[in-house]
Amino acid sequence: MPTTPRTAIVTGAARGIGAATAKRLAADGHQVGVLDLDAASCADTVGAITDAGGQAVGVGVDVADADQVAAAVEQVVEALGAPTILVNNAGITRDNLIFKMTEQDWDSVLGVHLRGAFLMTRAVQGHMTAEKFGRIVNLSSTSALGNRGQVNYAAAKAGLQGFTKTLAIELGKFGVTANAVAPGFIQTDMTRATAERLGVPFEDFVAFSAKEIPVQRVGQPEDIAATISFLTSDEAGFVSGQVIYVAGGPKD
Ligand code: NAP
Repeated sequence: MPTTPRTAIVTGAARGIGAATAKRLAADGHQVGVLDLDAASCADTVGAITDAGGQAVGVGVDVADADQVAAAVEQVVEALGAPTILVNNAGITRDNLIFKMTEQDWDSVLGVHLRGAFLMTRAVQGHMTAEKFGRIVNLSSTSALGNRGQVNYAAAKAGLQGFTKTLAIELGKFGVTANAVAPGFIQTDMTRATAERLGVPFEDFVAFSAKEIPVQRVGQPEDIAATISFLTSDEAGFVSGQVIYVAGGPKD
């Protein structure tokens, strides 16, 4: 069933999962606001979408800054129309064991993931309730279940699950769904940085991780984009408040 073309916003869309998701939503027929820290870094994603005949605009924003978020959403509204699809994907890691973790590492991770998703959703939800349609997808992680060296990230990703379920309850009567996608190991710069931190060549890290995953491979950004494509479609209107682990096998 083809979905109705809408305006979508994807944060952290310059690379990795966000870039794949922006391209997939454009291929689904949506106009896409490609948001990332630096507008120039969005050029590749925007170029790939427009080269394929789609419509996109790149916007620089720190999702943890309320004024920047308000301005960025306004820029998307002016360029592409009112957004009714939002993918809160922007993320960072600042891994460390609890006894070495600084307050800054705690605050910056909670700031981008949790405060960022809150600010973006607050800024966009009015457009969704006005349209009586909305699709919100938040990027959680298997780390929400606990992961050594990631108390900050795990807390943020678990927090996003409660955030998602509450959005589903509050916004359901306006035709808005909210779901979380919780990826396992996805091959991106983020997992490359983890390998570097552990002092392991990325290829070895990927091969080792694949052996631990039931489907015997690591995930690609397109695996997550495909799940988000479904969750943002017209036909997913009865799926809300769920956390979908996309990890090549059971996690929860
Ligand atoms: P990535 O390759 O590191 O990309 C993240 C993007 O977010 C980057 O372009 C980054 O910009 C941007 N960003 C960071 N802080 C931002 C801010 N304050 N405002 C706006 N944009 C910001 O990461 P990824 O692997 O694609 O991960 C995407 C999402 O999936 C994250 O939420 C991550 O936690 C989640 N996830 C990933 C995995 C995995 O295995 N990769 C697993 C589970 C969950 P800069 O490049 O300028 O920093």
